[in-house]
Amino acid sequence: MTTFLIDMDGILYHGEHVLPGAREFIARISPFRHLFVTNNPVLSPGAIAERLSGMGFNPSFPEQILTSADATALWLSRRMPDFRYYAIGGKGLHEALEKAGKPDALEADFVVIGEGPGLDYDALITGINLVLSKGAQLISTNPDVNVDSWNNGTHLVLPGGGALVAPFELATAKKAVTIGKPEPLLFEMALERLNASPEDCIMIGDRPDTDIVGAAAVGMRTALVRTGRFRPGTRWPAGLKQPDWDEDSLSDLAMTLQEAGILDSHGQ
Ligand SMILES: [Mg+2]
Repeated sequence: MTTFLIDMDGILYHGEHVLPGAREFIARISPFRHLFVTNNPVLSPGAIAERLSGMGFNPSFPEQILTSADATALWLSRRMPDFRYYAIGGKGLHEALEKAGKPDALEADFVVIGEGPGLDYDALITGINLVLSKGAQLISTNPDVNVDSWNNGTHLVLPGGGALVAPFELATAKKAVTIGKPEPLLFEMALERLNASPEDCIMIGDRPDTDIVGAAAVGMRTALVRTGRFRPGTRWPAGLKQPDWDEDSLSDLAMTLQEAGILDSHGQ
């Protein structure tokens, strides 16, 4: 059965602005197995589902959403049940980790750096010393170097998870384990959640280096939609695997998938 993994930021919306054709596309694929996957660990699946509903995407349930924070918590709990952690990041990261482990700034097994607010000089010192003196393992929710944000129509570039973990890696000379796209862990957890195999899946994303490269590496088909940072007319980065579909909008992708017979019979 055809299964869709869908990135959200740059595919469904920019900030509070819903992208043209996005609601129609999601309604169109709703009979298919699908999951929204995001590298952004700042909001919990519950908060994201509420946001999607508020934007007119219906229905959207928390269990249809997988964030890098959830994938991080799951990965850590499999690695070490009842793990202790020191986390720096937004509310969604703390909520996900609290369900699986115990916060412990003195004896943490893992120092988890998430994209989003929370990093200051004291947190940097605590995290670095847990790694160096207590042998805590450094974990990064996602490798994005920077990410786009829109606030009342104003575009801002924010530091991504990769930029926030960098000072810890530099100061400790340790490489973090990274959970989000393009690493395979988030994709593997999505497959597990959906009980799907990679060849069933089409990953729809706006970033060649994370969404497309990562999904292709685990054996999924990929669709690039040029509504995020990667725009129509931008040349494909040299050396990166090309997507199976490359479209300017979700409406164009729907048409292409329709012509390919993929949207016809629920992919059965
Ligand atoms: Mg995106």
